[in-house]
Amino acid sequence: MATAHESDGALGDLIDPELPASTYVLEPEVVEPLVRRVHTSQDAGTHRSTLPFTGAPLAAVPFSSPDDVADAVARARAAQRDWAHSSVGERARVIDRVGVLVLQRQSEILDLIQMESGKSRRSAFEEVADVAQTCRHYAVRGQRYLADRREPGALSILTGVRVHRRPVGVVGVIAPWNFPLTLAVSEAIPALLAGNAVVLKPDPQTMLSALWATELFSEAGLPDGLLQVVGGAGDVGGALVDHVDHIAFTGSTATGRKVAARAGERLIGATLELGGKNPLYVAADADLDAAVDGVARACFSNAGQLCMSIERLILHERIAEEFLELFVPAVRKLRLGAGLDYTADVGSLVSADQLAKVSGHVDDALAKGARALTGGVHRSDIGPYFYAPTVLDDVPEDAVCLREETFGPVVAVSRVASDDEAVAAMNDTEFGLNASIWSRDVSRARRLAARVEAGTVVINDGYLMAWGSAGAPMGGMKASGLGRRHGREAVEAVTEAQSVVAQRGLAAGVSLDTLYAMGGEAPSKALTVAMGVMRRLRMP
Ligand code: NAP
Repeated sequence: MATAHESDGALGDLIDPELPASTYVLEPEVVEPLVRRVHTSQDAGTHRSTLPFTGAPLAAVPFSSPDDVADAVARARAAQRDWAHSSVGERARVIDRVGVLVLQRQSEILDLIQMESGKSRRSAFEEVADVAQTCRHYAVRGQRYLADRREPGALSILTGVRVHRRPVGVVGVIAPWNFPLTLAVSEAIPALLAGNAVVLKPDPQTMLSALWATELFSEAGLPDGLLQVVGGAGDVGGALVDHVDHIAFTGSTATGRKVAARAGERLIGATLELGGKNPLYVAADADLDAAVDGVARACFSNAGQLCMSIERLILHERIAEEFLELFVPAVRKLRLGAGLDYTADVGSLVSADQLAKVSGHVDDALAKGARALTGGVHRSDIGPYFYAPTVLDDVPEDAVCLREETFGPVVAVSRVASDDEAVAAMNDTEFGLNASIWSRDVSRARRLAARVEAGTVVINDGYLMAWGSAGAPMGGMKASGLGRRHGREAVEAVTEAQSVVAQRGLAAGVSLDTLYAMGGEAPSKALTVAMGVMRRLRMP
């Protein structure tokens, strides 16, 4: 049997049909160097991950105990002291090198991502591209984001203000399974650049991809101890929140609320990237031919297991039928497949639980009167967790899939008579992560975007252009989260602003004391005059 990085082709290369069903698909020579990187000192148990394409056991990954978590954070804290004193340029060089290495060694990680998550290779490549893009962005912009800034003082002549950004210390990252590489490292990159250490808890199903990423950071020159991985389920995630100085959590809204409550008890910062129920509006003036493939990608990339994925398709009634005549055949044409190559458009769902959730949402809608224009079926002929890309119409208001995140390849169609109705429909959800508007008139679409309650609004694309814009903050309004990843905001989240305010002029005998020495009402009168002058001169 081939090792992971030798495959670069059909799944058949990796799966020996003679292999007993209980034998792990990945060979020890692939798994052992990776799992040695898990911070575990005692037998805290192991997790058996699954190859979603077939349901076979993939690998055994070790768990950590709560004590191991405490120890990992203590070691990270010790390593962080020197790192915080290194220059931003030095740190940026490590980050830049990670971006180069991930592209150079992409075939290894593409295999691992696909095998752990069941996604198509194209979706896996989006992760590689995202990491390269994020590294490049922070390597170039890091100095600017972390530079001291001057601000006007209380009385400009008397006061000099500088604002420094100091690393918080140790940042904990808790990541889900749907983007095993990207979500493991995209918050670690700005955190490390800012001079922090990071302790990461990936989802147990996708630990190998995260561990592979830590190998890359070491190869890029990151000193030991600064990026550590602990293994485990929710209890280990909870223990991490108990020890770190900031928690960056990506996952469901339900778990996000628990993490926020625990972080609140400790008064540490929390960045929460949570769920969505994202709408896409096709306006009456949209170029329908140009929209079709992009809209299909927006709904079905990563088999819909994407936080920014579109689950509500809102069509202007003037173009609705014409659009569906183009869209439904395009969805039917999407190729489902399990190969470790670029032949499939859509891969598998990750697990039996995810399959049960997706089919549960579709069955509920159909039972309540919805119609499947295409899909609505489990494709067990391809693999145990494959589900056909599904377009539902006439979905009644009480259908679960209209309100709750499905996190699968399912989109519900609705029609509106005006742009105003479209905005109201887009905002009719507890979530506010991503939204998309398709129109030939970009200025008009921008005006609509300003009325949409979502952290990103993408015009004439579904999500990729927003996700790939590493300088643009990305995150959720309403129940979709707190804080932002990417851009300056991600650096600010993991640093403390410190204002150093200096009273100057003491040597020249000009100070607050000079003022107060005037005695009586005089200082107040002088300050009143000074503030009036400052206002007239529009001094900030
Ligand atoms: P999840 O069940 O909330 O789990 C996310 C992570 O949190 C996992 O590593 C999980 O470990 C851990 N965890 C569970 N309970 C915890 C607790 N009490 N304290 C600390 N950590 C805990 O989410 P999921 O189902 O894996 O991921 C899918 C969700 O993520 C979707 O809702 C999706 O929209 C969201 N998501 C959001 C973004 C974004 O940027 N906004 C991006 C990707 C995904 P165990 O798995 O072992 O329980």
